[in-house]
Amino acid sequence: MSEEEIDGNTILAEALVAQGVKYVFGIVGIPVIELSMAMQQAGLHYVGMRNEQAACYAAQAIGYLTKRPGVCLVVSGPGLIHTFGGMANAQINCWPLLVIGGSCSQDHEGIGGFQECPQVELARPYCKYSARPPEPGLIPTHVENAVRLSTYGRPGVSYLDFPGNLLMQRVAASRVLHTAMCPEPPLAWPDPSLVSQAASLLMTAKRPLVIVGKGAAYAGAESAVRDLVRAFTLPVLPTPMGKGVVDDHDVHCVSSARTTALQHADTILLLGARLNWMLHFGRPPRFDPHVKIIQVDICPEELHNSVQAKVAIHADIGVFTRQLTQQLASHAWSLLVSNPWWGQLHIKCDQNKNVVSKMIQDTSVPLNYYTVFHHIQELIPKDCIIVSEGANTMDIGRSILLNKLPKHRLDAGTFGTMGVGLGFAIAAALWCRDYAPGKKVICVEGDSAFGFSGMEIETMFRYKLPIVIIIVNNNGIYKGLDEETYESIREAGDVTKVTPPTSLSTNAHYEKMTEMFNSKGHFCINIPQLLDALKQSLKVEDKPSIINVMINPNADRKPQNFNWLTESKL
Ligand code: ADP
Ligand code: MG
Repeated sequence: MSEEEIDGNTILAEALVAQGVKYVFGIVGIPVIELSMAMQQAGLHYVGMRNEQAACYAAQAIGYLTKRPGVCLVVSGPGLIHTFGGMANAQINCWPLLVIGGSCSQDHEGIGGFQECPQVELARPYCKYSARPPEPGLIPTHVENAVRLSTYGRPGVSYLDFPGNLLMQRVAASRVLHTAMCPEPPLAWPDPSLVSQAASLLMTAKRPLVIVGKGAAYAGAESAVRDLVRAFTLPVLPTPMGKGVVDDHDVHCVSSARTTALQHADTILLLGARLNWMLHFGRPPRFDPHVKIIQVDICPEELHNSVQAKVAIHADIGVFTRQLTQQLASHAWSLLVSNPWWGQLHIKCDQNKNVVSKMIQDTSVPLNYYTVFHHIQELIPKDCIIVSEGANTMDIGRSILLNKLPKHRLDAGTFGTMGVGLGFAIAAALWCRDYAPGKKVICVEGDSAFGFSGMEIETMFRYKLPIVIIIVNNNGIYKGLDEETYESIREAGDVTKVTPPTSLSTNAHYEKMTEMFNSKGHFCINIPQLLDALKQSLKVEDKPSIINVMINPNADRKPQNFNWLTESKL
């Protein structure tokens, strides 16, 4: 009797299952169509997307949410190249992702094969691991490597390359080197003397601040961090995706006094956030020049970056934070709410809330950002996942749309990537479907941001995902034009010479995209319409909704103390 044979497609699909991978997002074509079917056969969820970039965003969001990489499956050449925006985004966000690319058959390489290009080499700058298994029997070893490297240490991206001939090749089942599931990443424990140093430094601080980043969310350190700030009455400031590690509604959260907190803190406990552009590099004028940093990171190379830390700790945030809490408790130390620092922060929080509350009350048409977000915030479930992108839409939304739970905020992230929203929302909705049924995904998009991947609305209908997309429409990028000005400018000359590069069509009815799928969208120009649309959309359980809210094309942020990104005092 001849020995049982197995092909590369099946070996790969089964190896992914063996490594605990559950979700694949992709676009198929030669040479990966059979692979996508083998994946479903092996029990993986396969989500066919409309653009490889969006598929890659979805795969990395599921990786962030589940801590196992999602797969982005693409065809050779252009298919892979279209994922590079996504791969760079995941690598820079430190999120696990596994990209699998079909590639030109090896017997066509070097002679002008179909979509031939040096894929392993091209992917390498965006990856921790980029390889082509040399033969079918070794596929499981490479899959294990790819999953391990994407999740161990600082999470990131792996790329695996599969020439068509490797996928189709049949080998004796006995030649397949099966590899056991790679265990959960080990937890890095802090050096105990550094925990003591961190505790001593905090206890001598006059103006301490805890900054919580998306590394703390990824670490699942929410209960440890909440216990710490509550036990010792510490003010806490989340980064955009650190929101929800401590409930935004919590009295310890000082987001409303962000500038003051950063500028005047004398000691900062930095938990899973980098001192990059998002935190103004940790330097003056946004930070006190003498601020003492206690930095905790899973990645030792990150320690001391931009500003030398007073105490630099290579550790998992959950483990470290629990030990720090124990140390502080043993000294019976706590910051008092009557402390002048808390007084200063409370005053600033109140002042800022007053400024915002004036803007919220203005319901005149055309609407402003603050009023729109305030009413959205009032209606959406407090435990929903909020996906948010667009320049002003994301920046202003950050302070008004609040998060109760960790990993419930997905936005343009460290790389500032626009176009991530719909892909992220698809991943988030699948995660809700499988792990938190009934939980809502609200995707708040600028009109420009929505345009990057608007066709993923079809994907959402196909997979019955009840995502509520709210487009905050100002007819453009940053700012647009009102209809009258737009028309008169364009009548005056050649459209490509006179249309402002920041302008998009005025009053575009993006909500009508749902009509392609026999579903009515919502066009809103005032608050009652918005509220009505949102109420209806939140009830829908088996398909997406689009709410297109027109706002003043000139609407802007409230006056800022510092110009974002433009001041450079380095
Ligand atoms: P944010 O955008 O919220 O400021 P960053 O992405 O800049 O966050 O930083 C997150 C940091 O968290 C990264 O430096 C990453 O290495 C680190 N990190 C990720 N997981 C853990 C963990 N389990 N423990 C400690 N640090 C972590
Ligand atoms: Mg816009």
